[in-house]
Amino acid sequence: MVAVDSGMTRFAHKLAEQSMSLRRARPEILQVNVGKLCNLTCVHCHVNAGPKRKEIMSRNTIDRIIDWLAKTNVPTVDLTGGAPEMIPDFRYFVERVKDLEPLRHVIDRCNLIILVEDGYHDLAEFLAARQVEIIASMPCYSAKNVNQQRGEGVFEGSIAALQLLNSLGYGIDPALPLHLVYNPVGEFLPSPQEELEADYKRELEKHFGIVFNQLYTITNLPIGRFAASLRHRNRLDEYMQLLIEAFNPATIEGLMCRNTISVGWRGEVYDCDFNQQLGMQWNNSDRSQMFLWDVNPDSLEDRKILTGDHCFGCTAGAGSSCGGAIT
Ligand code: SF4
Ligand code: SF4
Repeated sequence: MVAVDSGMTRFAHKLAEQSMSLRRARPEILQVNVGKLCNLTCVHCHVNAGPKRKEIMSRNTIDRIIDWLAKTNVPTVDLTGGAPEMIPDFRYFVERVKDLEPLRHVIDRCNLIILVEDGYHDLAEFLAARQVEIIASMPCYSAKNVNQQRGEGVFEGSIAALQLLNSLGYGIDPALPLHLVYNPVGEFLPSPQEELEADYKRELEKHFGIVFNQLYTITNLPIGRFAASLRHRNRLDEYMQLLIEAFNPATIEGLMCRNTISVGWRGEVYDCDFNQQLGMQWNNSDRSQMFLWDVNPDSLEDRKILTGDHCFGCTAGAGSSCGGAIT
């Protein structure tokens, strides 16, 4: 057992107890959060995104990110938000990444409903033509649960969007992967990913003729709008306790913060999108704020990851990452 410092967070304490530390491996994914603008206002949102948010990435920042990427071999660019497709330069960003050598893989984290909103009807075709992988939120295969978490009518719109994606080859053509994301509707851990995936596949195909590749189960982290909702209902401490008790050391190696660089709408850098929402930005050695263009990708291995008690959301049970369960 390692001696622990009483000033540590409970998460740091837990790692020390297990003689573990959380450090970076080689960066393989650049996850860019292009802003907080979204067409929805989901109750579980950790970004506090919504239609009135003004924080979005400018073209100048996109150009600086592309210049940085061009000097690296980071193979995957993962676009998230808000609804990333709503920023005016979303398509410009995708096109510029796709023009890079060596070729890069692009992921769009899509809330589905945006694909059937007015003004976005050609978006799905644009994504298919550029072979952009889609990772789409779909918190349940039942209308009641989806509409409760994401708003009235979202389920019906999501089904129409999935049918549109299937008609373009998404989920069928290996070059057009379509993955769905499940997150619990309340303050509990996700069910086992494989079982839930089988349920989703059966129900969506049976009732709507929809097919997709994989289901990713993601735990709700106690930050942002979800934390506010728990606090409001006096359930925050109970949920934290649930996450702490479910700590699973086998998840540590596969945590997404180990191989992902998270970038905010101004180009600032973090260990993950959750740290981003908590303002846990990287600093330069002179303590000034670090932006992506200050980062030497070859110097990141073994860099210590900034953690807090919210990290228990990623290490609970089977673990949780942008690619679903870890173990
Ligand atoms: S959870 Fe996603 S779709 Fe919902 S408000 Fe947040 S960013 Fe938008
Ligand atoms: S919240 Fe999760 S991904 Fe982010 S630093 Fe903590 S453990 Fe890593």
